[in-house]
Amino acid sequence: MKKIDFRSDTVTLPTPEMLARMIQAKLGDDVYGDDVTVNELQDLSASIMGKEAGLFVPTGTMGNLLAIMSHTKPGQEAILEETSHIYLYEVGGMARIAGVQAKPIKGVNGELKIEDIENAIRKENIHFPETGLICIENTHNMAGGMAISLDNMNEIYTLAQKNNIPVHLDGARIFNAAEYLNVDVKKIAKYADSVMFCFSKGLAAPVGSMLVGTKEFIDKAKKHRKMLGGGMRQVGILAAAGIYALKEMVSRLKIDHANAILLAEKLNEIDGISIDIEEIHSNIVNVDFSNTPYTTSQLVPKFNKKGLLVGPRDERVIRFVTHKDITKEDVIQATNIIKEIINKG
Ligand SMILES: *Cc1c(COP(=O)(O)O)cnc(C)c1O
Repeated sequence: MKKIDFRSDTVTLPTPEMLARMIQAKLGDDVYGDDVTVNELQDLSASIMGKEAGLFVPTGTMGNLLAIMSHTKPGQEAILEETSHIYLYEVGGMARIAGVQAKPIKGVNGELKIEDIENAIRKENIHFPETGLICIENTHNMAGGMAISLDNMNEIYTLAQKNNIPVHLDGARIFNAAEYLNVDVKKIAKYADSVMFCFSKGLAAPVGSMLVGTKEFIDKAKKHRKMLGGGMRQVGILAAAGIYALKEMVSRLKIDHANAILLAEKLNEIDGISIDIEEIHSNIVNVDFSNTPYTTSQLVPKFNKKGLLVGPRDERVIRFVTHKDITKEDVIQATNIIKEIINKG
């Protein structure tokens, strides 16, 4: 039985061409700056994002943490959306390692309202910590992969600059955002001082993320990366996958987006399921099963038995993520399986 794995776009396997590039990569010790493949990936990433420099990191979590450590001082506060990945899913690294306190605020579809940020920015007062950073996320994972609009990003960046506060963009899926917004990624990245994005998600590389920003910022982040144990040696073998991902895997993201819409349309044919297609911006579909006869903890094992792997969010909602290793036929087969289970138990 073929498994259809909707748990995450991180489950994608490298393509044969990607593996071939990895084997052929020219290598060196990257702690000495000698790995030409890593250097190429960092330069290429910076230029694609319209920034001065880049730093290859093992994970998105480390990239975000390095950004926080490099923009702030311990004891400061960072404003972020209350369901952001940094706040919910990064083990509190910003507090424990960066020594930065979170100021979470409620967003609307992942977007932060400008008045809420204005209210959250600390004024000068002997009792208060300083606001050291604003973090945004695009596309927004918990908002079902919705893209934050350029207007919202522009407003936030303008306010931040007025207050001398840097902005970090968690752009784990920034290429999905660019696909939905139909703009070059530079147009998104320009509203942030630093951007982290992942090769290991929709771009199908086995490992790796990138942090970009000014040369000065990246120099700081590089030292912090060494401290965290992220100084890697002949890591061009992984950077080669990243180069391939940037050149060959970005343009196919529209297939994942079309498959997500197809999945939502097919699931809408089931009694009790109602997904707003307008809200499917990218490759994530959050499906509310609470008006079907089953809870998600009843459904997930039934799905698994039929080879369908999914990620339950809570008792009502299951997250489906489309990616390179899921075809249109897989989506149709998956929705048939779900239909049958919901109708017949
Ligand atoms: C996956 C993800 C990350 C972290 O990436 P890892 O490589 O898994 O550490 C950060 N932000 C968002 C929005 C993500 O989806």
